[in-house]
Amino acid sequence: MLRGMAHGHRIAQAARPDAAVGSSDSPRPWLPRASGSAILAAFAGRLRTKSEAMIQSKLPNVGTTIFTTMSQLAAQTGAINLSQGFPDFDGPQALREAVGRHVMAGHNQYAPMTGLPALREQVAQKIARSYGRRVDMDAEVTVTPGATEAIFCAVQALVRPGDEVIVFDPCYDSYEPSVELAGGRCVHVPLALPDFAIDWQRLSDAIGPRTRLIILNSPHNPSGALISRAELDQLAALIREREIYLISDEVYEHLVFDGVAHASVLAHEELYARAFVVSSFGKTYHVTGWKTGYVVAPPALSAELRKVHQFVTFCGITPLQWALADYMSAHPEHVDELPAFYQAKRDLFCDLLKGSRFTFTRSPGTYFQLADYSAIRDDLSDVEMSLWLTREHGVATIPVSVFYQTPPKDLRLVRFCFAKREETLRQAAERLCRV
Ligand code: PMP
Ligand code: GLN
Repeated sequence: MLRGMAHGHRIAQAARPDAAVGSSDSPRPWLPRASGSAILAAFAGRLRTKSEAMIQSKLPNVGTTIFTTMSQLAAQTGAINLSQGFPDFDGPQALREAVGRHVMAGHNQYAPMTGLPALREQVAQKIARSYGRRVDMDAEVTVTPGATEAIFCAVQALVRPGDEVIVFDPCYDSYEPSVELAGGRCVHVPLALPDFAIDWQRLSDAIGPRTRLIILNSPHNPSGALISRAELDQLAALIREREIYLISDEVYEHLVFDGVAHASVLAHEELYARAFVVSSFGKTYHVTGWKTGYVVAPPALSAELRKVHQFVTFCGITPLQWALADYMSAHPEHVDELPAFYQAKRDLFCDLLKGSRFTFTRSPGTYFQLADYSAIRDDLSDVEMSLWLTREHGVATIPVSVFYQTPPKDLRLVRFCFAKREETLRQAAERLCRV
């Protein structure tokens, strides 16, 4: 009974805020609020029903994510969706065909808990090629249903009640709920504008006796900023004498532009010894809906993560793992070709956007491009701007403030996803140039 009711609430939660967003004459109480968490809290606040009072939420500040909200608004208004990060083109045909082949060949039962050996082997080989590290595919590589699950499991494996976890704002939205569910607390360290670089003084000030974990993300969502090898060295020196672990979210590891090499924690001996390095096949092979990723960590850390992972999902999806293993083995060059593939999209989009009143510097990595709109509508917050662009100009974007605990005053940045076909980018840019 109780279960059924709780489930019902979840459905209500999912459906209601988006309906409200879609109707232009409905009250929009989040609009005047500046902070990202306040916006999400406002969504959550709108959803309370009578019977919901029976349950005290473990995540009282969490509502529907900005990605769902903006993608649904784009669908409702018919806007071009450059908000939520996903390609509007398909992954390689051979990869997709391989899934069908493996389904028909009977690869439809549980995969091993740690992931299909053939896929873990491919991951280990790719790591050796890309970062020069030889990892033990049995003891150090775990395939997960998406990077999100890997991050969640790593946090649960490490964080105890009262522990502090340092995250850099703007930060990806799944980190903080994962930490809170483990009983920990996020300490938000803002990245320094305009380049979204680590502010070493603030990081050093934030580290204390309760610090258990630091979550890094390079290439960085939403800014595209990269952490350099020298910065990894600096971080190693800062935490050398402390028992602090790392999650290095490197889901965009192969989307690094302008000839720069990705500085992976996998290539850093000292940091790797205390790290979970997370990646996502979804980003690398243009198949975000497959929700398949992996995490690489030294044996003792992997063992603890697996204790959690085996009771969260147990394993990833079998035929997808077979298909990825086949494709990676036949096309090791895929990852080497990705930077040029996405750099061309970034450059096309940025060249077209030069004809607009948005200002920007080209994104160094990821498939996201930030743009400053203060020359267009300085009177609007970024949330208001995103809604206005979607409704009035037919291009959906993501406001950057929602990734902050306390957004900088007068932040006038929106995020565009350029993982789109050329015609989509041209059409979107044409609309943006008219704004
Ligand atoms: N981390 C970051 C920074 C991301 O942008 C994403 C993507 N959506 C994820 C983690 C989650 O990846 P996945 O879809 O594989 O769970
Ligand atoms: N990572 C994607 C983005 O930043 C969204 C993933 C999601 O919707 N959970 O847009």
